[in-house]
Amino acid sequence: MNRANEAGRGKKGKMMHKRVALWAVLVLLAPVAASFVALPAFAGELTVPRADLESAWQARIRSFLALGKLPLIDLESSLQQEQAEQYVPAAFETFDELGIALMSADGYQREQDGSNGYRWSTYILDLVNRYPAYFIPTANGGTNPNWLNEKGGKPEHFIDQMETAIRSGAYYSMGEFDFLHYMSSSQCQSGRTDRDSDIALNGANGHRVFALSAETGVPFVIHLEAEDHALDALDEMLAAYPRAKVIVAHFGQIRHPEAQGRFTPQLVRSLLTRHANLFYDLSTGNPNRKYKCSGPGNNTVLVGDTVLWQGAAGKQSDVLKPEYASILADFSDRFVFATDYGGGRPPLPEFLRERHENFMRIIRDLPEAAKYNIAYRNAWRLLTGRAWQD
Ligand SMILES: [Zn+2]
Repeated sequence: MNRANEAGRGKKGKMMHKRVALWAVLVLLAPVAASFVALPAFAGELTVPRADLESAWQARIRSFLALGKLPLIDLESSLQQEQAEQYVPAAFETFDELGIALMSADGYQREQDGSNGYRWSTYILDLVNRYPAYFIPTANGGTNPNWLNEKGGKPEHFIDQMETAIRSGAYYSMGEFDFLHYMSSSQCQSGRTDRDSDIALNGANGHRVFALSAETGVPFVIHLEAEDHALDALDEMLAAYPRAKVIVAHFGQIRHPEAQGRFTPQLVRSLLTRHANLFYDLSTGNPNRKYKCSGPGNNTVLVGDTVLWQGAAGKQSDVLKPEYASILADFSDRFVFATDYGGGRPPLPEFLRERHENFMRIIRDLPEAAKYNIAYRNAWRLLTGRAWQD
């Protein structure tokens, strides 16, 4: 997740026009539209019954299959309320063109309103109520100061509100939660250090998130740079909570190689073999992507921050290393598409196009069945608990 503007959001704005939403629903979902006609205004809760929601998703996925287009479910993004107002529904044209059937975008906290503690927001649920065929009810993201300061134990804390929200049954996915997270290139260039986080996956709040997923069956996404101690904690937690569904974001992103020596194809195979509850998302770097906060001093440029590609740093080709290509093929039931949109990113359509291009590059040479699994079938299974039926 991109954490820009999480702490200091503040602009007011109205959600999208109900009239436009109705148009989209009626045009795209004629067969199942009847139950969506009475859309409530700003309910703050999910008002579309789960069965109707899943029928709408299924119809949209099938509409791409009928066109011979690979349907995609973006399982890891964030959307600020302002971004939703700015790009929805106009960006649906890009969704349709690229084959993006559904987006799971987590929400940022509400604007300041004088209340203490974390401010849970519900604009993502409003989006789902208006555009049930496009969005997945996704809980708020774990990138806020309340989470990063590891608060917990009171109703005003993020993790406590998360438990209440997930147990309400409204949400299909949680996260991205930041655990071990390096600064972005722009953050370290502007001299910031506040965005470096190292929250122990096996600490108190980590246990609460894993337990919540195990209890409810709701999957969650974590940001966990693959340092040695983080990999040990991941191994331990996957074993301790076999019913928790864990999606580790940004597969193969290695930005501090000096601290991440144990992330190898052998280790990934071992983790995937031993833990059926482990998934990875493929929102990761294109060949020779630059990371400007590398090295022990966070001040050197690494050209090629993603180890999936063939070739040495700065000379990566657009072909996967065979050892990673074979992991994607052998474990094709364990990877998902994601775009990692969020605050501070370029305009949504432009961003989706760039991330879609890289995803298609990653899966280009994989067996056909693996492409379908990774594009939408695994996400469908994670979200609904059922295998996709063509
Ligand atoms: Zn992330």
